[in-house]
Amino acid sequence: MQANHRTLSQRAYKDALKTAMSDRDMFPDRLFTQDSRLLDAPPALRALYDSYSWAAHSVKARAWLQAAFIFNFLLMSFDYFVSPSLLVPTLIIRGLIISSIMFGLYVLWGRQRAGWIQGATLVAVSMTMMIGSGTLGALGGLPLFERYLTGALFTMATAILFFPIEFRWTLAGVVTALSLHALMLLMGPVTDPWLALGTSGFYSGVIIVFASTRNAALRSQWKSFKSKIRELRDQEALAILNDELRLIASLDPLTGIQNRRSAQENIARIWDDPGCAKPAIAFLMLDIDNFKQLNDSLGHAAGDECIKAVASKISLNLGDGDIVSRHGGEEFLVVLTGTNAGDAFAAAERIRNSVVSVQPENSADGPACPVTISIGLARWQGEETPQMLINRADEALYEAKRRGKNQTMVAPPPLGDSAHTEDVSSQDACDVA
Ligand code: GH3
Ligand code: MG
Ligand code: MG
Repeated sequence: MQANHRTLSQRAYKDALKTAMSDRDMFPDRLFTQDSRLLDAPPALRALYDSYSWAAHSVKARAWLQAAFIFNFLLMSFDYFVSPSLLVPTLIIRGLIISSIMFGLYVLWGRQRAGWIQGATLVAVSMTMMIGSGTLGALGGLPLFERYLTGALFTMATAILFFPIEFRWTLAGVVTALSLHALMLLMGPVTDPWLALGTSGFYSGVIIVFASTRNAALRSQWKSFKSKIRELRDQEALAILNDELRLIASLDPLTGIQNRRSAQENIARIWDDPGCAKPAIAFLMLDIDNFKQLNDSLGHAAGDECIKAVASKISLNLGDGDIVSRHGGEEFLVVLTGTNAGDAFAAAERIRNSVVSVQPENSADGPACPVTISIGLARWQGEETPQMLINRADEALYEAKRRGKNQTMVAPPPLGDSAHTEDVSSQDACDVA
């Protein structure tokens, strides 16, 4: 039902706004860029606009109803002043009927309603003002009758300015007011019918001017709504683009793993995190053995493929909280978090063995990559900075190379305390292929 499209809950409004911001299929760009009429908007967009504009519309309509309610009350003493015989009628008509209707409409505009309920308000106001004032005027006799009818028409004109409703409902309100005005003039005591007709004509003109002014304001509100959505969509697209650029800037283009700068940022973040258990951190520095030789024999392109294969093998052997980055040409830095000495060494060995598994003779296991890697492992020791840890892992890597490559070397503690030196190479610790 159309009415359901017109009344969105706050949550539904936020969801709809999000959809309008991002869903280019449901809300194509042209809806917000082309000069279009609100009436031609698709129901979902119309519902969104109605919810967007509701707060401002409600404030305006309620301000008018509040003023009309108070003014109507004050007019009771005026009625009595001009004609004491109007005391009882005014108490009933103004004190009871008109004020109750105004109050009821005020309450009604407290919550977002379907378009037709909002529109029907003007018809209700129109009937209340014309019949109420006309009856009181008729009871008061001439010249009160004409003046009250004129006053009621003027009040109607102001209502049109304040009630931001659809044009067809505005028209319905205006036709109701002018018809009732004409009908009452025909039935009531009139001094000069031509003068009365002139008054009607004059107020019809005023009402038309007010209605077109109000419509222009509504059109500009519709336009600013569309440009706001356009702006939000541009911001959203820019944010997505920025995220993509940030991601691209943080990755190594060849391997797709983090680049050195991005790893440095992430390591700094880990170091700044007071909840991070640094004793559980280990750095692995990995380097492909005899890579220059491979480049020379198989070519640079094969070398590239090999670097990619090794990066992928390393990544597959790491946990969620770990970091892998391309540190340099054929060198990788891995940061293990939440690990102990045994686990860190086992992780390094797992990686090393998985690289061995992509040898040409095992090529079914991945792209042929006739290489092995050497690894330097350093576990965090009190007060060490990331750079100090990298240096120790580097030294251990150098030692692994020196001892014949294709092995993991654990770095001794930084102060050279021999009691704590873990000088254990993989080949000492395990039987690795
Ligand atoms: P070692 O076992 O001692 O590490 O010897 P190595 O030959 O691997 O060491 P070295 O550092 O002397 O050579 C590394 C080579 O890696 C030199 C360089 O041409 C090559 N390299 C660096 N980056 C890339 C790259 O992106 N692609 C390719 N194909 N080669 C690269
Ligand atoms: Mg190398
Ligand atoms: Mg190297």
